[in-house]
Amino acid sequence: MALMITDDCINCDVCEPECPNEAIFLGPEIYQIDPARCTECVGHFDEPQCVQVCPVACIPVNPAHVEDKWTLLGKYERLTAQARQVASGPAAADDPA
Ligand code: SF4
Ligand code: SF4
Repeated sequence: MALMITDDCINCDVCEPECPNEAIFLGPEIYQIDPARCTECVGHFDEPQCVQVCPVACIPVNPAHVEDKWTLLGKYERLTAQARQVASGPAAADDPA
């Protein structure tokens, strides 16, 4: 499963930089997690890093995004392949100038 942030979030900003997948972002009121980018840290760490640092324990699993470990690993591999492509791709391709 991807994780989610509940209304108990106090916007402390601690979790966002800890996410290896850049899945956490500040929404209209509180921080949110993009389920398409959250792997529960599978592929990067043994434990979800956001859960480790959150001072108010407001990051449970997201019941709307049930995924087993292999699905999460596949998501991790897709995200890292995309990141590699962006890093090594021709800069001119996306250059509007
Ligand atoms: S569990 Fe890991 S990948 Fe998911 S939002 Fe938290 S830090 Fe990011
Ligand atoms: S660490 Fe917890 S309280 Fe702080 S911004 Fe993240 S989800 Fe909200």
